[in-house]
Amino acid sequence: MKQPPNVHDAESIPAAARDAIDALLQSGDLFRYTAPQGAPVALLEREFAELLGSRFALAVSSCSAALFLSLKALGLPRDARVLIPGFTFAAVPSSVVHADCIPVLCEVGDNYRIDLSDFEAKLDDVRAVIISHMRGHTSDMDAIMSLCEARNIPVIEDAAHSLGTTWNGHNIGTIGRVGCFSFQSYKMINAGEGGILITDDADLVARAVIMSGAYEHNWKKHGEIPEDLAEAFERWQNRLPLYNLRMSNLSAVVIRPQLPELVRRVRDGRTNHDYVAERLNNSPHFHVPDPLSSEERAPDSIQFNLIGLDEAEIRDFAAAAAALGVSVQVFGLSQDNARAFWNWQFLQEIPELPKTRAMLMKACDVRLPVRLTREELDTITDILLAAMEEVTRPARAYGT
Ligand SMILES: *Cc1c(COP(=O)(O)O)cnc(C)c1O
Repeated sequence: MKQPPNVHDAESIPAAARDAIDALLQSGDLFRYTAPQGAPVALLEREFAELLGSRFALAVSSCSAALFLSLKALGLPRDARVLIPGFTFAAVPSSVVHADCIPVLCEVGDNYRIDLSDFEAKLDDVRAVIISHMRGHTSDMDAIMSLCEARNIPVIEDAAHSLGTTWNGHNIGTIGRVGCFSFQSYKMINAGEGGILITDDADLVARAVIMSGAYEHNWKKHGEIPEDLAEAFERWQNRLPLYNLRMSNLSAVVIRPQLPELVRRVRDGRTNHDYVAERLNNSPHFHVPDPLSSEERAPDSIQFNLIGLDEAEIRDFAAAAAALGVSVQVFGLSQDNARAFWNWQFLQEIPELPKTRAMLMKACDVRLPVRLTREELDTITDILLAAMEEVTRPARAYGT
């Protein structure tokens, strides 16, 4: 069988970034607030807000920082309960803990999306909700928004893996009160590290900007400031702590030339994913859940459930694929997995979530960077099918 591609290498950064990087190195102007206007970070914020169709954007050091600032900007009191999915990255409950709030975990179903009956049952005493569209699988935002709006509960979208995904034609990240994105290397746009939040709420963004580290009147360097935003800045000046989670100009110049690549990356990622999904779904032992009907996905990895295998066979399958060169992460079986809720031992209390646990014990994760060719996709898929064949082949009867 062919050698599979390296799925951890990133796509190279567009050459257009080089001139901007050189200019920054020449001037030494790396801090977003040195120039009075037009710093690369401020330009990125305007371009990103326009791209997604939201009024405001604030670029920060990571998506985790964006989530933390969103919670702080909502003004939640200490020990407020924040509902999050039981299947997400450990950074999400961590951002809640960081904001002095208490994460409440709800069940996630076999299709990696929030279990709406558990969600509704746990909604009554929560003060905010974070929806993690985990691995870019969109939960039912129509149902979630109507449940939350009826109770006046703000929704933060963790869209770290959903840049380019749409729901009923609207960009994911623009449906809740705030949307948070990541520029960490394994996401659709790669700056090594970085994050951004978007919102239409002037008061919320003013608070987030100040807390991100716009000390004194540095908020004046955020480009054009409409009247309601200027009023909000005046209102909050000197009244909020400064957490200094700013983005550097160097990150912004790496990100900006990647924005025009997004459409292509999303298209290729979806085509690649759907091709592999179709091949895997032809086997009775693989199940790649369908997207929801309102959703157009932007995947750069694939998740599938293993059907009819016990835990030992699932481990054997992952080992057989690894021996052939494809790394399959079973969320609930790989050691110390940061997406398995029982490993979030920094929480005061870890609830039992039987549905989520059952899903994690058979759900597999394989990276499919959008740059892969059809041939490379076939090599990966052939290996997955061969590994399954090895595990499920009936034992041969020898002798008589
Ligand atoms: C990557 C990721 C994060 C964290 O992003 P950082 O920028 O690394 O802080 C949060 N949530 C999800 C769903 C992610 O995939």
